[in-house]
Amino acid sequence: MNQTADVVVIGAGVHGASTAFHLAKAGAGRVVVVDKSGVASGPTAKSGAMMRPIFTEAPYIQLVMEATEMMERWDEVVGGDAGFVERGFLRFTPNFSEADLGGNLDLMKQLGVQFEILDVDALRARVPDAEFRGDEQGLWLPRAGYADPVLTTRTLMRAAERLGVKVHEGVQVTGLRASGARIEAVETGQGVIHTRTVVNCAGPWSARLAAGIGVHLPIETHSGGTALFQRPEALPVGSPIFSDGINQVYFREVGDHILRAAHFGWTNHPVDPDDYDETITAAKLQTLRGDLKKRFRSMQRGIFAGGFAAIYDMTPDAHPIIGNIGGVGGFWCNCGWSGNGFASAAAVGGHLAARMAGRSSAVDLKMFGWPRPPETRTRPDGNWIRR
Ligand SMILES: Cc1cc2nc3c(=O)[nH]c(=O)nc-3n(C[C@H](O)[C@H](O)[C@H](O)COP(=O)(O)OP(=O)(O)OC[C@H]3O[C@@H](n4cnc5c(N)ncnc54)[C@H](O)[C@@H]3O)c2cc1C
Repeated sequence: MNQTADVVVIGAGVHGASTAFHLAKAGAGRVVVVDKSGVASGPTAKSGAMMRPIFTEAPYIQLVMEATEMMERWDEVVGGDAGFVERGFLRFTPNFSEADLGGNLDLMKQLGVQFEILDVDALRARVPDAEFRGDEQGLWLPRAGYADPVLTTRTLMRAAERLGVKVHEGVQVTGLRASGARIEAVETGQGVIHTRTVVNCAGPWSARLAAGIGVHLPIETHSGGTALFQRPEALPVGSPIFSDGINQVYFREVGDHILRAAHFGWTNHPVDPDDYDETITAAKLQTLRGDLKKRFRSMQRGIFAGGFAAIYDMTPDAHPIIGNIGGVGGFWCNCGWSGNGFASAAAVGGHLAARMAGRSSAVDLKMFGWPRPPETRTRPDGNWIRR
């Protein structure tokens, strides 16, 4: 496969697909995508794919709002169906502090996020199957939902191909070549691609690739379990995403008969992305079921329908790493999304493509540079994955 390209995107997860699509739309020349496995074959495939703009920093809120607008008109702006359903998102919470919510309501309002605060009586009326403490309130976001992560990624990639992008599946990048602090080639199991620009979208494998050219990316791979349950009769089809701030567990539909649930956090010990246990452990299932039962009466009899473990590419402050990194010309990164990369993915590629072309863009990605610029704060919500 010896060839030349203007840009090589490494990784065909949702970020690689979005980056390729937007680069092609921006006229970036010959864009090639390489994935060692296939389109949407990595952690993207297991994503909850939930989209809700609850954050404390403007760029995330803007990106998720923009990606949601794209989802609402997917066939027109990308082509095909991303499986997006706008069911709304309901967080149960005792207070609206940034630490408890992971979001800043004033900032969200200022940026145009639609939300409503529900008192405990409204919560009880809306979710009769759930038990609420007297001090709880609800944060209701009507313009939130979830997509099908595989369909989203495939349709983005097919749109990129229609714009001329070449996608190579089953081709592993084995090394990067740089000379005089400038990218000059990508080595693969099937030959060399000569290029002066690379975008590293390799998720949990990103740090290994960067290390090959002496760039340290502080990304560790951690795992977390998701359980599936048969829908209890008491929870009607078409329910919103439920996010329980007290028991730290979320719950959403997968089609009409299955619900998927996971804790906000992750298991805090690194795993090898090429060799980890992909099953859900009995202990994890027990704590998940226990936490769901504390909230939903019908989950006392919740019927287990399977489960899995998946991996997250975690950075120390749980913000992604985006930009030209490590002082190597032509070495761009869009990785380290720390368990919340789906929601903004469709939009991020556009702002990154603008930056790569030296243009300004409506969303400032500066806070995601590495090393972190001074304005980047550590997440206010401890070890939560923002759901
Ligand atoms: C269980 C779970 C639930 C989640 N829920 C949500 C959610 O509800 N909302 C949300 O916003 N986010 C969620 N996320 C996070 C989100 O799904 C991820 O941040 C996002 O999918 C990451 O996409 P990516 O393209 O960066 O990486 P990946 O999906 O990891 O893709 C990386 C790709 O790179 C390829 N690759 C790696 N190394 C090489 C190499 N050397 N050569 C060639 N190819 C290579 C891999 O094969 C892979 O296809 C969830 C994640 C998980 C695991």
